[in-house]
Amino acid sequence: MKFSAQLLALLPPLAVASPVNLTRAGLHKLFVRQDVQTAINASLPNVTIFATGGTIASQGTSNTQTTGYSVGLGVQQLVDAVPELLNISNIAGYQISNVGSGSINETISLKLAKMINEELAKDTVSGVVVTHGTDTLEETAFFLESTVNSTKPVILVGAMRPATALSADGPLNLYQAVTLAGSPAGRDRGTMIVLNDRIGSAFYTTKNNANTLDTFFSTEAGQLGVFINQVPFFFFAPSEPVGRVVFDVTNVTDLAQVDIVYSHQDMDPALFNASYSSGAKGIVFAGVGAGGMSDKASLAAEELYNATGIPIVASHRSTDGFVPDGGDFTIASGFYNPQKARIVLQLGLTAGWGEDKIKEAFAKSYPKP
Ligand code: ASP
Repeated sequence: MKFSAQLLALLPPLAVASPVNLTRAGLHKLFVRQDVQTAINASLPNVTIFATGGTIASQGTSNTQTTGYSVGLGVQQLVDAVPELLNISNIAGYQISNVGSGSINETISLKLAKMINEELAKDTVSGVVVTHGTDTLEETAFFLESTVNSTKPVILVGAMRPATALSADGPLNLYQAVTLAGSPAGRDRGTMIVLNDRIGSAFYTTKNNANTLDTFFSTEAGQLGVFINQVPFFFFAPSEPVGRVVFDVTNVTDLAQVDIVYSHQDMDPALFNASYSSGAKGIVFAGVGAGGMSDKASLAAEELYNATGIPIVASHRSTDGFVPDGGDFTIASGFYNPQKARIVLQLGLTAGWGEDKIKEAFAKSYPKP
């Protein structure tokens, strides 16, 4: 592994890269396997990296700077910083975008889902890695969990420290992600999140701390596994999350607009109408406790539902836990947190599902009393 000082010397001047052209024709495959190795090692797995930006692709102005850095490293630079990757895999890379993950949008998510489905359909490809900012990594991971139809591993990876930092975490995280993507142990487990020596299910894992390395976990569902000396160890045999629904987005170009409304004391009931007026086809609210909100807000939501039929999903603003079916106008999110419930609702609405089918999809993921 190269040290940060060496990495620093490799880097171009600070620059915030503009997003790449996302049309299929304009998509630039940065390198092919033959370009990075004199010969493909037939005994190694072929792993494809899709780079989107984030802290893992960011640089600061000094090796002690761990906030306020800039995104801009490309997929080739990420791979060049970890030459050991070529001892464990034949790598190909695509630059999908180069942005902070707050700017990942449905165009990028759909592009990723389509390209990953195509890539994994190739017999020669063992698995894929997506490098991504950690802030919304769980959303892209869950989106891919819900749209990639393959038994091969899809691994989302990021970093909490920029590439220039002392003890940057990106290089080892990337090494572990590529290891898992190329490993038969990663099969039949859906999309996974790798950070800080841990392997989590995209279905449940969430970012819990805005700053520290040890941020990705799920309190209730736990971790799927860990890396011991860079070898993935799974605690359980392969399985898939209860209630997982996989949508076909091959021909989808836009997703239905779904907004999240945050519930709190004295919340403004007008937010439901505002969301509908701005084009939302569905609303998720991050409820207090198990999907609650004030009487005033609830009345406004019910009036909107009665007038328009817009599906309104009750989720929870607490990190973990589940929302049961309340037998009212709302659809219970079960264990899905608001950002994941939003994706289920978006995909269901985009597929043309009616309220009953959407309700059924949510209900598959939690127990009936
Ligand atoms: N700002 C970063 C992002 O793109 C944070 C990170 O990657 O850790 O999400």
